[in-house]
Amino acid sequence: DARPDADLLQGLNGPQREAVTYRGQALLIVAGAGSGKTSVLTRRIASLLRTREAYPSQILAITFTNKAAGEMRERVHQLIGQKADGMWISTFHSACVRILRREAEQFGFTKAFTIYDSGDSRALIKRLVKEHEGDSFGLTPAGTQSRISKLKNELADAESYARSANMSDPAERVFVEIFSSYQRELQRANAFDFDDLIAQTVYLFRAFPQVADVYRKRFRHILVDEYQDTNHAQYALIHELTRPVGSDAEPFSVGGMMIFEADPSTGSGTEGGPASLTVVGDSDQSIYAFRGADIRNISEFERDYPGAKVVLLEQNYRSTQNILSAANAVIANNFDRKDKKLWTDVGAGDPIIGFTGYSQHDEAQFVADEIESLHRRGIDYSGMAVFYRTNSQSRALEEIFIRSAVPYKIMGGTKFYERAEIKDALAYLVAVANPADGMAVRRILNRPRRGIGDVTETAIARYAAEHGITFRDALANSAQLGVGPKLQKAIDQLDAVLTEATAVMLPASGELAPSTSVTEGLTLLLTKSGYFDALRASKDPQDEARLENLDELIAVTREFARNNPDGTVIDFLTEVTLVADADDLDDASGSVSLMTLHTAKGLEYDAVFLTGVEEDLLPHRISANEPGGPQEERRLFYVGITRARKRLHVSLAMTRAQFGEVTVAMPSRFLQEIPGDLIDWRQSPGDVNGRGGSQSRALNARGRRPGQPGGGGNRYGDDLVPLPKRAPADPSKFPNRIPAKVRDNGDMVLAAGDRIRHDDFGEGRVDAVTGEGAKRVAHVRFDTVGPKKLLVKIAPIAKL
Ligand code: ATP
Ligand code: MG
Repeated sequence: DARPDADLLQGLNGPQREAVTYRGQALLIVAGAGSGKTSVLTRRIASLLRTREAYPSQILAITFTNKAAGEMRERVHQLIGQKADGMWISTFHSACVRILRREAEQFGFTKAFTIYDSGDSRALIKRLVKEHEGDSFGLTPAGTQSRISKLKNELADAESYARSANMSDPAERVFVEIFSSYQRELQRANAFDFDDLIAQTVYLFRAFPQVADVYRKRFRHILVDEYQDTNHAQYALIHELTRPVGSDAEPFSVGGMMIFEADPSTGSGTEGGPASLTVVGDSDQSIYAFRGADIRNISEFERDYPGAKVVLLEQNYRSTQNILSAANAVIANNFDRKDKKLWTDVGAGDPIIGFTGYSQHDEAQFVADEIESLHRRGIDYSGMAVFYRTNSQSRALEEIFIRSAVPYKIMGGTKFYERAEIKDALAYLVAVANPADGMAVRRILNRPRRGIGDVTETAIARYAAEHGITFRDALANSAQLGVGPKLQKAIDQLDAVLTEATAVMLPASGELAPSTSVTEGLTLLLTKSGYFDALRASKDPQDEARLENLDELIAVTREFARNNPDGTVIDFLTEVTLVADADDLDDASGSVSLMTLHTAKGLEYDAVFLTGVEEDLLPHRISANEPGGPQEERRLFYVGITRARKRLHVSLAMTRAQFGEVTVAMPSRFLQEIPGDLIDWRQSPGDVNGRGGSQSRALNARGRRPGQPGGGGNRYGDDLVPLPKRAPADPSKFPNRIPAKVRDNGDMVLAAGDRIRHDDFGEGRVDAVTGEGAKRVAHVRFDTVGPKKLLVKIAPIAKL
C-alpha cells in the first residue's frame, strides 16, 4: 500500500512531508532560510507527476532566476527519472514572454516583439526627456525611468496616474507626457520593457477573459518560490491565473487604474475550478522593496486565499548552529515580524570569524588568505563565496585575488550583454528580427562609421513619419531622402546587408529558419556591414578585446543552436535579454564566486565571506532616509549570513577609499547584534601588546593565541606589526586592529632549481619563474604539498 511517491517523502521532516502531500487550493509555506522551501517545492512537483495527479504541461513553477529554474527542472528529472518536458519552470519574466509571444497579436504587437532591457529603455527615456525639455522641470532620465518602472509595477499607466496626480504642477504634466510618449514609442517599436512583460500580461488577461481561460485551464498547479519578493503586478498575474475558469473579467477601462480586489475562491479541485497555488517565502528575506516587492503579498495571503493551508518549517538543514544563532539574533532586531526560531541538529560548528583591516586592501588580503587556507584544507574554490553590498567593492577584492592567484568569478558584474559592441551586434539581429524596432536600426546606422550623422538620421526619421512607414523601410528609399550620393550609397549598403541577413534568418516571410541560421546571420551581418573590418583595422588595443567579445557572442549562438534545435533568432534574443545576475553561475566551477548580497539569494556555499560590514555600506547610506530602509538592509545581512553552510566570516575595513575619497569607516551596527561569543575576532595587537580596551578582549571570547590549534592557521596572527601612531577612528570601536603582513620580496632573485622555504608549505624546489616585476610567479614543487604557484613579491618565502 505504499504511495507511489513514497520515495519522494523519504528523509523529509513532518511539516515538509505535509507541504509535499497537501492537496487543497492554496498552500503557503513560510519558513526561514535553509529550511527546505525550494526543496519542498521541487518534491511537490515530482509528487504531483509521480502520482499522476498532473501532466507536466499542467504545472507552472516560478523561480527567481533562470538558473534556479534550470536546477529545479533538473532536480525534478532526477527525482522522477523521466524528462518532464512541457513543464513550465521559469522566472516571471520568461513565463510572460512565452505567453506574450503567443498572444501579442491580440493587442497590436507581433510575436517578433523586442524586449528592452533597462539600458534600452533608459536610452529611449533619455531621448524623450530631452525632447520634452524635462530637465527644465527637474526630470532626469534615471529618475523618470525609475518612477515609470514603479508605476508599472503597481499596474498604473500614464492615464491612470494623471488622474491621481496634481496636474496643475507643470513638472507632473511633463512627466505624464513623457510616460505616455514612452508607451507609444514602445508600442510603435513592437517592444516591451521588463516591467511591461508582467503588466501587459495582466492587461491581456483582464481585457481578454477567453485568453486568460486558456491558461487557467492549462495550469492546474502553480508554484511560486521566493514569494516575499513579488511585486503587485506579479501578485495580480498569479491572482488572474488562479481564478476559476470562466470568471468574468473585472471591468476594464482602457488606461484605467487596474485595481485588484480579492475574490473569494470557489469550488477548488472541481472541473473548471481554480488552479491550486503553492507559494513559499520568508518575509525575513524580502530584499527587493526598492523594486516594488511587497511583503504584504505573504502576510495577506490567508486573506486573499481564504481557507489556505499554512505550513511552517523550522528545521534548518543548511547551516551550523553558530551561523543560525547569529542569523536569529540579528533578524530579531527587526520589529513588526513574526518570531521564527530556526534550529539545526548538525551541531555548533566552527565559530564565526571576524576581521578588521586597516583598509579595504588589507581586508581583501585577509579574505584571499583565508580562502587559500580553506582550500588547502579541502574546501573547493567553488564552495566559497564573497559577498558585498555594492558592485564597486569588488575592485579591491579582485586586485588582491589576482595577486594572490585565487581563481574567482564575478557574478552579475561582468555585464557582457551591456558592452557596446555586444549591444551593437544584438541591435543588428533585432533590426532583422523586428524591423519595427526603430531604436535598433538607429543604433546601427553609423556603426561602424559610415558618415551617417544626426542630420541624415533625422531626415530618415522624418521620411518614415511622413510616409507612415518604419525607419527600417525608409532605408530602402534612400533616393528620396535628399542626401548626397555618398550618404545614399552608405544607406543602400546597410539596407542590402539587412536584407541579405533577413533572407538567411527569416527565409519565407514570417517563417523562421533553423537555429543555426542565427550564427550564420550574425556572422554575415558583422562581416558585410564592415563591423569586423573596422575593429581589425583599429589601433586601439580595446578593439582587440571587442573582437574577442564578438567571437564569444558567436560562440553563444552556436551553443544556443545546440541546446535549442528549433530555436529562432527571436528565441535567441529573448534568452540573452532575460539572463539575470545570478544566471552565469554555471561557469564558476573551480573558482570562488564574488557577488552582491542581492544576487546571493537562494544560494548556498560551504564558506561565506561577508565583506564591508560597515556603517554607510551595510546598512547602506541610501537606506537611512527610506522608510523601512534600515530594516531591509538588516534582511540583506540576514540573507548573507544564512548562505553559509559551515564557515562564516565577517570583515570590515577601518578606512575605505571610494570615489577617489578615503573615508573612515565604522563597524556596522549589525555586528553588535551578533552575540559576542559567536565571533572569534582574530587576535588583536591590543591583546598582545597589552594595549587595546576590554572591549577588544571581550570580543575575542575564545582568547586564542595566534598559531594555536584552532586559531585557524592563518598567517595573519603570526607576526604582528605594531599599530600606526594615529588611528583613524576611536580604536575601541574596532574589534580587531591587525594590519596586513607587510612583505615585499620584489627583489628576490629566484631561478629554476633553487630551494625555498614557505611559511605554510614548508620546503620545495623552484621549477620555473614566469612573469615580470610585481607579477613574477614562482612555480614551486613542495616536498609535502606538491606543486603551487606563488606570487614572488608577497609570498611568505625565503631562499635556502
Ligand atoms: P532559502 O531560504 O535560502 O531559499 P530554502 O528554504 O529554500 O532556503 P533549500 O535551499 O531548499 O532551503 O534547502 C537548504 C539545504 O537543506 C539544501 O542543501 C537542501 O538540500 C537541504 N535539505 C532540505 N531539506 C532537507 C531534509 N529533509 N534533509 C536533509 N537535507 C535537507
Ligand atoms: Mg530557496
